[in-house]
Amino acid sequence: MKIVDVRTAVVEANYEWTYVRVYSDDGLTGLGESFCAPGLTSIIQDLKVLLIGEDPRNIDRLWSKMRWAASGAGSMGGIIYNAISGIEAALWDLTGKAYGVPVYQLLGGKFRDRVRVYADCHAGEALEALTPLMVARRPAWLTAEGQEAVAATAESHHPVHGRAYGTPGAAAVFTPEMYAARARDVAGRGFTALKFDLDVPNPYTRDTQSGTLSHAEVKFMASLVEAVRTAVGDTVDIAFDCHWRYNVSDAQRLAYELEPYGLLWLEDPVPPENVAAMRRVTHSTRTPIASGENYYLRYGFREAVETGALDIAAPDLQKTGGLLEGRKIADLADTHYLAVAPHCIASPVGTIASAHVAAAVSNFLALEWHGMSVPFWEEMVTGLDGPVIQDGYITVPEGAGIGVELNEGVARRYAKAGEPFFGERGER
Ligand code: MG
Repeated sequence: MKIVDVRTAVVEANYEWTYVRVYSDDGLTGLGESFCAPGLTSIIQDLKVLLIGEDPRNIDRLWSKMRWAASGAGSMGGIIYNAISGIEAALWDLTGKAYGVPVYQLLGGKFRDRVRVYADCHAGEALEALTPLMVARRPAWLTAEGQEAVAATAESHHPVHGRAYGTPGAAAVFTPEMYAARARDVAGRGFTALKFDLDVPNPYTRDTQSGTLSHAEVKFMASLVEAVRTAVGDTVDIAFDCHWRYNVSDAQRLAYELEPYGLLWLEDPVPPENVAAMRRVTHSTRTPIASGENYYLRYGFREAVETGALDIAAPDLQKTGGLLEGRKIADLADTHYLAVAPHCIASPVGTIASAHVAAAVSNFLALEWHGMSVPFWEEMVTGLDGPVIQDGYITVPEGAGIGVELNEGVARRYAKAGEPFFGERGER
């Protein structure tokens, strides 16, 4: 069996869902998804020359071939691995189809039939549709309310100002009452774990550049957390994300203030690249600290895992290096008795691929679902009897490969103009 082609397609959803399809000479294809990035499909096309003529079933060797070929361009990490991750996932799908087995079987078999999903509740509709560089977009499918929110809160359609979302004084749209209502709504759909953004516009923010938090800001953030906890009670787990915005001492004060609410985790309170700084926060508090969506490869996780700088590892399998790399990161974490909660902003294609890994590692905690705001999220795949997510769980598909196919009609409807659609050029 030989690889004869690699093609891409991009769908404009809340993020740019970037698909990779690998074609073999016996007519089989494999589908993978990459975490969006500027110039991504061009990188994937550049990597194609390394794959043509190769046996797609030698996944780890091909992964290594791409890694070392790109060693100058990105051996430590970076966008090159977003591309490699999508290709690698497509190779797993193709190989599973070649042998007639699900991907989780090839990854060692499953610990569980159903994968627990945590629902990302984000913050408000203004942040629901972003380009790879976090510029707010207004896709046609966004609700009228969402369109208004983008216009009202995202000056210049760019929600990130300095290190914070929004500008000082533009905070009125985020309230404890809104968070509580959304928490009740989502928990009512059967989810046992929720995540909200905590780094949202805060009425007490004076400066969005410094990474500092005033006492009033910390108290307001705690009021959001308290509202969510009160809304869902003690039987639903809740997590909050800070998107690496704060400095060490303010992150410590925040984590301390949130201790009474029993969080599942506080995510990325400080930037992830200084592991010693993150370790200071993690060691200062009983609030578990999660991080990892910005780490590439097991090597990127090594120091944080080994030094106890994080409590929960959150690799993004469409970005960190692929599905097998996700398994290797989980195993590394497991040697230090740490749980893994994969970050995921993908369509059902990438989410289900991640679910195969989640099923195959013992120390899995919960898998992110970031598609609540996208009305066609569930429609993007075919091959399942029911919805992808039911009552807060994904039942791992038993079909060959990842067990689902892309719904090309829906994908084409929302395809990004100017990007090829699996080889077809031109406008959608
Ligand atoms: Mg995050």
